[in-house]
Amino acid sequence: MKHSASKETGAVFYALLAAAGKGTRMNTALPKQLLPYRGMTVLEHTMRTFLETGRMDAMIVIIPPDREYDAIFHEIGERLSEGYGIPIRFAYGGRTRGDSVKAGLEEAAAEAVRTGTEEEAVYVLIHDAARTQVSAEIIERNIEAVQHQKAVTTAVPSIDSLRRISPESEAAPLSSELKNSIMETVVLPREEVFAVQTPQSFHLPLIREAYRKAERAGYEGTDDASVAQFAGAAIGLVEGSYENGKITTRKDIPMAIRVGTGYDVHRLAEGRRLILCGVPIPGSRGLLGHSDADVAVHALMDAILGAAGKGDIGRHFPDSDEKYLNADSMKLLAEVKSIAGDITVGNADITIICERPKLAPYIEKMRENIASVLDMPKDAVNVKATTTEGLGFTGRGEGIAALASCTIEGRF
Ligand code: MG
Repeated sequence: MKHSASKETGAVFYALLAAAGKGTRMNTALPKQLLPYRGMTVLEHTMRTFLETGRMDAMIVIIPPDREYDAIFHEIGERLSEGYGIPIRFAYGGRTRGDSVKAGLEEAAAEAVRTGTEEEAVYVLIHDAARTQVSAEIIERNIEAVQHQKAVTTAVPSIDSLRRISPESEAAPLSSELKNSIMETVVLPREEVFAVQTPQSFHLPLIREAYRKAERAGYEGTDDASVAQFAGAAIGLVEGSYENGKITTRKDIPMAIRVGTGYDVHRLAEGRRLILCGVPIPGSRGLLGHSDADVAVHALMDAILGAAGKGDIGRHFPDSDEKYLNADSMKLLAEVKSIAGDITVGNADITIICERPKLAPYIEKMRENIASVLDMPKDAVNVKATTTEGLGFTGRGEGIAALASCTIEGRF
């Protein structure tokens, strides 16, 4: 629902999300704006925060010029545009952040023309897509302030006391970044120092003119506020929050825990070896199957794939594939762990349902095997056996069933 204030003043607000970066510092193939974040992507999370406010009249997302991930960007854009009933446009970024924002501003001007809106009525909130923790309150403060000030930036007081360093000194190195620097006597008083964040919000004609001016002068600012300041604008400060940080490294993406369950059954037959959790169990009968029919490990593999949202073992290891004939299920378990991605298995709990043989003597070895393949402590692997009191197919000794649950930790 639209807030009434924008209707009263006739002001129109466009969100401009800078998402053109390749995110090389993330050390990952995917650009950081497409990394998983709280069940969606970084970009979608930020887009939703802006769209949820109901204050945006349009959104312009500035995306990488290489077009490699266009399909993903457009899918997100179309879905959210339909869901929120707000036009979402894309602009291709340029060589520098400034070039990218300029492209976004041109698209904003084009959007105004498309909708018959005077450029004079348009305000843009320029925001780094990687600042996922921007809040509705910060957005609202930008909307209020920019209508009076015409150029504002979100900022927070510095928590740390700041000193200036002199870069040419030969003093003892502190770290790679601070190498060969010594502290100057200049103390920057904490109350006078602010850390600048986004959104940075502007009257559209002002920021477009500022970029034109900067371009003519060959000035490249560090952010949009510095470009506006270079062009002569007074920049208002809007209160941000310490949570409104940028995702720059993988550790900025919160860890999450997921749960999975698995279930499997195999038929008992003469002349087969019985293998459970990689432990051969002596006796005359074993389980029938395309692979080694390790029913307990199969249940666990399905639990891990389930937690990771990666389907089931039938999909990854089809029994129509000769490659998996008599396959060692412990090897398949290792493969499942890598299919699940960059995760650790937190704990695993396996229940084997079987009338005989008695499994107690083998349980410790089973736990060791699983722990070793999944690279987890043995006490995080639990294996238990139960009978069904002679009832059902397991009770009659026709087969063995297994259940498994596990948790996985990762960044989803
Ligand atoms: Mg199976």
